[in-house]
Amino acid sequence: MPIKKRTTSSKFVEVECTKCKNEQVVFSKPSRDLKCLVCGETLATSSGGIADFKAKIKSLLE
Ligand SMILES: [Zn+2]
Repeated sequence: MPIKKRTTSSKFVEVECTKCKNEQVVFSKPSRDLKCLVCGETLATSSGGIADFKAKIKSLLE
């Protein structure tokens, strides 16, 4: 059984948009790409598991 290296127990992640600095709490395993609510910049792309984050991760939430 392969174990993914990029796993986290956190379900939600606080990220900061690299473009407009908007801080947003997002689901760590989204089924769709995550966009900044302010400027529309892609914050993370869906990868089937833990998202591939483009935005700066501020903190991991429970
Ligand atoms: Zn933004």
